Amino acid sequence: MRYGMVIDQQKCVGCSGCVFACKAENHTTDDINWCDKIITTSGQYPDVKFEYVSTMCNHCDNAPCVGACPTQAMHKGEGGLTLHDPDKCIGCKACMVNCPYGVISFNWEKPHERWLVDTGVAAGSFTSATMLMAAGGEGSPHSNPESAEAYPSVRSRGTVEKCNFCVHRLKAGLSPACVDACPSRARVVGDLDDPASEVSQLIRKYEGKPLRAELGTGAKVFYIRSYTPERRT
Ligand code: SF4
Ligand code: SF4
Repeated sequence: MRYGMVIDQQKCVGCSGCVFACKAENHTTDDINWCDKIITTSGQYPDVKFEYVSTMCNHCDNAPCVGACPTQAMHKGEGGLTLHDPDKCIGCKACMVNCPYGVISFNWEKPHERWLVDTGVAAGSFTSATMLMAAGGEGSPHSNPESAEAYPSVRSRGTVEKCNFCVHRLKAGLSPACVDACPSRARVVGDLDDPASEVSQLIRKYEGKPLRAELGTGAKVFYIRSYTPERRT
């Protein structure tokens, strides 16, 4: 099993549903997006072109971030995923420097502090924490207990983090949150080692290519077709 993803640019409508689904699933802070996008506009009115490319960790087979990490905090894990162990991370940023895709983020501040505020702005108003208490919920308002099984809900200041393909969902037989949230089904995840899998078939049919293939990183997020939202099939 070698997990990979296909992103069909022709189906993508640039709605950023994947970005928000990832934030909700993995409780990333305001300034960190594991799933992100590159938006470019070109031309002059009225001939303006808009392009949207969804980005994330490519779980490279030859991951430069893993080779650069002095503590093995960044490592290859199950199904060929590039995973991160925050307990081993010393925050040296060597992985960030060596990732050619810029998809690793650094925690400069203690995350989620304002989620823990327990005084409202006025009498009768609620904060996230007081709402949770009033509703009888458990845990903390920023935490998704399911993803916390695979990665801590509150990341330590001075360490890095990035997409892990929602490994907790893969283990449960589900797709990553970004895949399930996409309203146009532009994203597919599956086994690149299985020639009959949907990802393998799509890559063959449309000659899928990863970003910056010339670098030889063995990136495993493949893009097919072109961003042309006026032609959705
Ligand atoms: Fe590492 Fe960057 Fe490749 Fe992800 S995309 S495996 S962070 S080098
Ligand atoms: Fe490894 Fe952490 Fe340094 Fe990245 S910041 S290279 S994961 S120790």
